[in-house]
Amino acid sequence: MNRKKFLKSLLLLPAGAAAMKLHEFHKSAGELPASIRMPVLFIGHGSPMNAIEDNNFTKTLTKLGQRWERPKAILVISAHWLTRGSTSVATSPNPETIYDFGGFPEEMYKIKYNAPGSPDFAKQVVQNVQSIQVHEDHDMGFDHGAWTILKHIYPAADIPVFQMSIDYNKPPQWHFDLAAELKSLREKGVLVIGSGNIVHNLRMVTFNDFSQKYDWAVEFDEQVKQRISAGDYDALVDYQQFGRAAQLSVPTNDHYLPMLYSLGLLDKKETVNFTYEEVLGGSISMRCFESS
Ligand code: ZN
Repeated sequence: MNRKKFLKSLLLLPAGAAAMKLHEFHKSAGELPASIRMPVLFIGHGSPMNAIEDNNFTKTLTKLGQRWERPKAILVISAHWLTRGSTSVATSPNPETIYDFGGFPEEMYKIKYNAPGSPDFAKQVVQNVQSIQVHEDHDMGFDHGAWTILKHIYPAADIPVFQMSIDYNKPPQWHFDLAAELKSLREKGVLVIGSGNIVHNLRMVTFNDFSQKYDWAVEFDEQVKQRISAGDYDALVDYQQFGRAAQLSVPTNDHYLPMLYSLGLLDKKETVNFTYEEVLGGSISMRCFESS
């Protein structure tokens, strides 16, 4: 029985019996009912500095984690774990926090996101994906595409987290299709997060003025927003059709591909809410969305 049906059924009971039943429901809330499907997110993670900043973006992340049932585990598909010629899933029970960046303040290298890993759900990924052999990686920790955002979404770090890599040799359609093979995890209480950026051109970032926005960055971000809203995911797989705006916004697609995973995990009837939107530093889109 799903939550809505359950709550409706309470209305048909005498008050005392309803209260009892509700108590039982809460008692079992730790055990996520099989009928509750976890949402899918895409987070535009931007600068690693967001880990320690308190800004409009990080404030929305903090609210996100309070909106849903507590997931049993979190799967992150991050722009910062690229593999070539294979796809891996992290199976470490105690993943290390990885500082995969340079030149940041000392305090950034002291942050630890101490969530446990989830070898069990990682192995379910290996079992669920039929089209390829997913490899188990026993050493992979949390890259900054995962921990800098999770630190705000789930600050207690008490929900198991595991990552899956992106095979950087494969074309966009391949990634979109692979994502569909992960859908059943959502029914089992796994929150899936794609972590990248829709517009990501580091060479053109206006470090002297973060309020700048290049026209092509705004144009591409808007095109993507419209296609997502229309459910036209095929157009987003074939993003190069958007010409110059796409070439400048996605000079390499490492940060774009996590979004295709998030879209590929949606069912046809699902729609998307944009939880954050901002173009900053000229050439970075911080757009985020969740399934609704
Ligand atoms: Zn990044």
